Amino acid sequence: MIQKIKGFKDILPEDIGIWQKVESVAKSIFENFGFSEIRLPVIERSELFKKSIGENTDIVEKEMYTFADRKGELITLRPEATASVVRSYIQNKMYAKEPERKLYTIGPMFRRERPQKGRYRQFYQINAEVFGIKSPLIDAQILLMLTTLFEKLEVLDTVTHLNSLGCPKCRPDFRKALIDFFKPVLSELCKDCIRRINTNPLRVLDCKCPSCKKAVENAPIITDYLCDECETHFFSVVDTLKSQNIPFELDTKLVRGLDYYTRTTFEIQTSLPGAQSAVAGGGRYDELVKMLGGPDQPAIGFAIGFDRLVEIIAAGQKQQEPSIDIFIAALGEKSNKMAYKWICELNLSGIKAEMDFSDKSLKSQMRKAGKLNAMYVAIMGENELNNGSVVLRNMKTKNQELVLIDNFIKSVKDKKTA
Ligand code: ATP
Ligand code: MG
Repeated sequence: MIQKIKGFKDILPEDIGIWQKVESVAKSIFENFGFSEIRLPVIERSELFKKSIGENTDIVEKEMYTFADRKGELITLRPEATASVVRSYIQNKMYAKEPERKLYTIGPMFRRERPQKGRYRQFYQINAEVFGIKSPLIDAQILLMLTTLFEKLEVLDTVTHLNSLGCPKCRPDFRKALIDFFKPVLSELCKDCIRRINTNPLRVLDCKCPSCKKAVENAPIITDYLCDECETHFFSVVDTLKSQNIPFELDTKLVRGLDYYTRTTFEIQTSLPGAQSAVAGGGRYDELVKMLGGPDQPAIGFAIGFDRLVEIIAAGQKQQEPSIDIFIAALGEKSNKMAYKWICELNLSGIKAEMDFSDKSLKSQMRKAGKLNAMYVAIMGENELNNGSVVLRNMKTKNQELVLIDNFIKSVKDKKTA
């Protein structure tokens, strides 16, 4: 049998519900904030990514799927979306008609990394990008939009890390300070960091190696090196977030893995065990449009790791959400008829009610109720029919109550709306 490629995955019908829900919630929130959808090719010329993401980044150095097509042109399966959105903004001269654009796109990305939970070779991102707005208010608004999405999806166990990476005016000073700081302690760094100390010293700050983590503890702090404009911008973002009660933590070690970021940079991290911690990341990239041959227009955006977000939501659902409202276990012909009438009536009024249709024993009906993860179970037998009342059992709290048969439908409906 021919198997799928390592690090790639099928999203099966039983799992698609969360993907569809996230997508529709994201679209509706983004559109409320003035964003329009854009759909882009998944393959671009390799140089687009080399030039934008940066030659000395993990993505370009070791993760891209690049190959020569039949005519020998080097093309790459996109490892991220921002470069393509910028290319499209420039190529379609969107700036000429209206430089201020808010765009979002959802789709697959490709990176040849070591596959593990939360890390795939084809994964999905939800991207949002804003062009043409310099004001720090838009930085705050983007974070408000992102936070709102996470709240709506009930993904609450997250922390937003925030930093500023300065601009081409002030970042070189910080770079130099970093190199000067690390040079005397170079031997304490990992091989990768020793190699990148001259090409991309900022990456040392977010290296995951324990020795590097220790070595950076007392390293210079970027926010001490910001020029006046960058500092004013950053503190204005911070003040706006505070005034809107948007939670965040300052994280002066946050640098992120792509070269094009300037000023505001952020990452949303989760503490869910076993998951890769970053579930979304983004920031300003004020130089990129110009760098790729477009006009001098500022920009800011973010990418949500769709797969990781879905995994967090799915883990939460397994713990708490029942999949049906009530299971009616019925014994004997009369009870079965009664149960059938009840489940139909409940189904028609929007309540997920199930029963067993094949005369199984009480034990195996209870097993079925467990499998369906029923919130309530009612047992209907000869005795119940004679007494005119049934036991309604809450499977989570184990509370039981006796309800009159004549009142059964109403009691279940009341529970559902309570
Ligand atoms: P990481 O540090 O986990 O490698 P990253 O900094 O490379 O993340 P970004 O380029 O910022 O990631 O991409 C934005 C988001 O896309 C990440 O926060 C993450 O949720 C998701 N993501 C990145 N790489 C993968 C992958 N290989 N598989 C699944 N999701 C990914
Ligand atoms: Mg990565």
